[in-house]
Amino acid sequence: MSETAGDAKPEVKQASKEVKESENVAEKYSAMTVSKNSEINMGELSSVFSAVPTHKPVKKQIQFVEEKQEFSRFPTKAGRRSLSRSISQSSTDSYSSAASYTDSSDDETSPRDKTQVNSKGSSDFCVKNIKQAEFGRREIEIAEQDMSALISLRKRAQSEKPLAGAKIVGCTHITAQTAVLIETLVALGAQCRWTACNIYSTQNEVAAALAERGVAAFAWKGESEDDFWWCIDRCANTEGWQPNMILDDGGDLTHWVYKKYPNVFKKIRGIVEESVTGVHRLYQLSKAGKLCVPAMNVNDSVTKQKFDNLYCCRESILDGLKRTTDVMFGGKQVVVCGYGEVGKGCSAALKALGAVVYVTEIDPICALQACMDGFRVVKLNEVIRLVDVIITCTGNKNVVTRDQLDRMKNGCIVCNMGHSNTEIDVASLRTPELTWERVRSQVDHVIWPDGKRVILLAEGRLLNLSCSTVPTFVLSITATTQALALIELYNAPEGRYKQDVYLLPKKMDEYVASLHLATFDAHLTELTDEQAKYLGLNKNGPFKPNYYRY
Ligand code: NAD
Repeated sequence: MSETAGDAKPEVKQASKEVKESENVAEKYSAMTVSKNSEINMGELSSVFSAVPTHKPVKKQIQFVEEKQEFSRFPTKAGRRSLSRSISQSSTDSYSSAASYTDSSDDETSPRDKTQVNSKGSSDFCVKNIKQAEFGRREIEIAEQDMSALISLRKRAQSEKPLAGAKIVGCTHITAQTAVLIETLVALGAQCRWTACNIYSTQNEVAAALAERGVAAFAWKGESEDDFWWCIDRCANTEGWQPNMILDDGGDLTHWVYKKYPNVFKKIRGIVEESVTGVHRLYQLSKAGKLCVPAMNVNDSVTKQKFDNLYCCRESILDGLKRTTDVMFGGKQVVVCGYGEVGKGCSAALKALGAVVYVTEIDPICALQACMDGFRVVKLNEVIRLVDVIITCTGNKNVVTRDQLDRMKNGCIVCNMGHSNTEIDVASLRTPELTWERVRSQVDHVIWPDGKRVILLAEGRLLNLSCSTVPTFVLSITATTQALALIELYNAPEGRYKQDVYLLPKKMDEYVASLHLATFDAHLTELTDEQAKYLGLNKNGPFKPNYYRY
């Protein structure tokens, strides 16, 4: 108790400091038209951001679980082979989550063992099959249609090239939507080298399309763990090219560079991090005084967290479960572990289809929200023998243990929507008495000696990115935020940002939202002078204080 109470005070103090600074910024830059015409003045952009250090206290101590193991692995050929086997057959499966035309290739040769060149003669990439580029281009074109805000930012800023000279190394899911972001960054002047933050989520044809356009893409669906680190290494460490910006999703790239090439940080102007997990890692580094460059926490931007985490998962959880299992949800008993943004989205979608949804939580506030939303809040052990589906969305580790897996009923579907594969103790299932049977790509039956089967999806890796598509429009919001964060960090005058973790100012969040309103032909109400005065607001925003929770 006393520990919590003690922690709470600086948090409150910090929050009021943020609001004050942010309001000053808003006042200073109120000339930027946000709500009216979705226009951005790139000159104004960099000053719209300001140093708003959040120092958001991280109470959960996230351990870098497999860090020792990860960083002691060097990408050797021998290592690659043995790791591929240990990671299971699925790493060589080529079923694509996303609508993929070309992933059914029988070619089992590792991309690392192939020599490929694009049509311009470059071989600075490693993808499954460069010949898939044309299909990938079509995927990217489809994504562009629902990412009009990002495309409009690309068109507006293209002539000014605010990222000229930027050398961005990125580690994100490589999907058609990310490709639209990468190609926007290139159009704004950046050089990009890109790798995947997840071994299953790469759309091979999209990676090929990027490589064909000259982006050094190192990724394919079904990498082994060793391949994963090799790809990161090839992006971060190449002769004659040193990155000066990092765009990360999960923190693996940042940590690889930090551990292996600390000197690179002398040139890095900033890190933009998208995920809950990666952001926790950054705050840990900052707390330990080891963060040597400024970093933008994109995850906690309202336009990321409330849209990507919530709405993206609300739509894609059903898609992932249906594609892998054809399960009918009506009347099924489902437990969702974690009632944060992702858990809220999953629970809402399942409830809407008639599933009986239980929620587990550690946090009384989120637990109370779940109660008020009509969910039964339980301990996992109370329902473990009943439920048909278990979904983890906590960002934590060992939320589902071997003991609980032993007690599940026959046919229970187990999957994870959190960033890391640590939520379900999958490693504990690799014991001699249990048989693993590959049923479909990304679907394993784990069979107990008495014949009981548990259906494990994507080997405990995040379900929607591994087994379904994710809605493009939502990703456009996140991608626009990432692009703006990169532009700001890259162009910020020296001293604006220190070696700390920053949030985007509220006004930029509002700007990203307003760019996307045009899609819906949504018309914002404008404050009258009288109303603005009454509420103490600037007519151009920001419209809410930083502590507002939405
Ligand atoms: P969040 O912090 O809002 O929610 C996580 C919740 O889990 C919290 O409320 C926390 O109290 C709870 N929790 C922690 N440990 C628990 C435990 N042992 N049992 C029960 N509850 C527990 O985070 P979020 O935005 O919901 O993200 C959750 C995870 O999903 C993160 O790893 C994030 O990176 C990932 N994510 C996935 C997607 C996707 O598309 N699948 C999208 C966004 C985020």
